[in-house]
Amino acid sequence: MQTVKNYKFWFCTGSQDLYGNECLGHVEDHSKKMVEILNQSGVLPYEIVWKPILITNELIRKTFHEANEDAECAGVITWMHTFSPAKSWILGLQEFRKPLLHLHTQFNREIPYDTIDMNFMNENQSAHGDREYGHIVTRMGIERKVIAGYWNDKDVQERIASWMITAIGIIESRHIRVCRVADNMRNVAVTEGDKVEAQIKFGWEIDAYPVNEIAEYVEGVPQNEINALVEEYYSKYDILLEGRDPGEFKKHVAVQAAIEIGFEQFLEEKNYQALVTHFGDLGALKQLPGLAIQRLMEKGYGFGAEGDWKTAAMVRLMKIMTSGMKNPKGTSFMEDYTYNLVPGKEGILQSHMLEVCPTIADGPVGIKVCPLSMGNREDPARLVYTSKSGAAIATSLIDLGNRFRLIINDVECKKVEKAMPKLPVATAFWTPQPNLQTGAEAWILAGGAHHTAFSYDLTAEQMGDWAAAMGIEAVYIDKDTRIREFKKELQLGNIVYR
Ligand code: MN
Repeated sequence: MQTVKNYKFWFCTGSQDLYGNECLGHVEDHSKKMVEILNQSGVLPYEIVWKPILITNELIRKTFHEANEDAECAGVITWMHTFSPAKSWILGLQEFRKPLLHLHTQFNREIPYDTIDMNFMNENQSAHGDREYGHIVTRMGIERKVIAGYWNDKDVQERIASWMITAIGIIESRHIRVCRVADNMRNVAVTEGDKVEAQIKFGWEIDAYPVNEIAEYVEGVPQNEINALVEEYYSKYDILLEGRDPGEFKKHVAVQAAIEIGFEQFLEEKNYQALVTHFGDLGALKQLPGLAIQRLMEKGYGFGAEGDWKTAAMVRLMKIMTSGMKNPKGTSFMEDYTYNLVPGKEGILQSHMLEVCPTIADGPVGIKVCPLSMGNREDPARLVYTSKSGAAIATSLIDLGNRFRLIINDVECKKVEKAMPKLPVATAFWTPQPNLQTGAEAWILAGGAHHTAFSYDLTAEQMGDWAAAMGIEAVYIDKDTRIREFKKELQLGNIVYR
């Protein structure tokens, strides 16, 4: 499975030649030192590369051009050490096509009260220069992140780190290709959408294949490869026979092993990073892909059930965003299933027929073979487990007919009170912020789907910034959400984004 490139971020310091070469020498020393310390901080997930001080139209334009052309450059961090007349930035910014961060900081933390003179003020005037630069970026209507604060403070470094993850999402979104195995489930509204507009807005290529074209790959998987993968499953997961014959059980598991290998070969050959299936259109496949899809998601593929290509692309996007993180907790396709409405214990049990990613598992993962209540195929094998607790986000990208909206809900994942021995699927359980009632009311008012792209590792801010970069509306459902204001926000979005 493809992972992220060896991405880097460029650090571009703005100045001008009005204050002489000695001043420019200091500017260079300072920004080099900042880059060195930021890289040594251990906080940033990607390296920062220092670039020569930008003082002229020509050099600024040339630098932004080179940033566009460099496949490893995932974005540019800009900062004005001195004053830098912002007309010099117009042509470069106009042509720049990558994520932009305006780091509004200052080399020195404290005013040197005893020694400060006019030379010092001219040299250290980020408060002045960054306002001039910020003005032109706003006037030009360029979407960018602004982070203010002292560059050597951990919280500022953590915000830069967080923005880097968003920038990877912005860059990688344009490399996502979704393989649709069959079409959307008949009559379902929310999994539909405008695929042409999705390619224009997000860069996603979304193609359909007849299910039997991929089923042929599954048929062609050699028996020895199937056997080896089944052995891997049996060594890695608990085998939960629950009264089934061990030989018959193993045959069912082997069908999923063949699907995993055949599907992965198909996706690799044709360069897809996400896929959808549909339980009602399985062609020659013997089982609904269950365990196989769970394993593919674990390897980084995006997935959406019932033909839900929007969620499949979002799951892939969020997986690639988190792939550079240390110790991620997990990202998955998910579905709102059933409520617990006991006062004080409110929450939504999350699951799907089968296809939940094991990266979110907490504790042992088992294999079960059980009948599927829908469709007309063999009992599919699936991985079962419960999920981690803690803060997470659930996102839903919807098509409103004339535009997209991303709904982002902060959720608190919890353990269910008791085991659910008769439930043959992986689950998570969460309470939406600010509480179940308001969270669910806001979600429904916003038009959110029953499918979500879910992650413990990303924040609402990161996904909202990604949406802003894509030029679409993002609405947040969090601890501050109140229905009356939320409805006003939706009305405002209808005007701004129509
Ligand atoms: Mn579903």
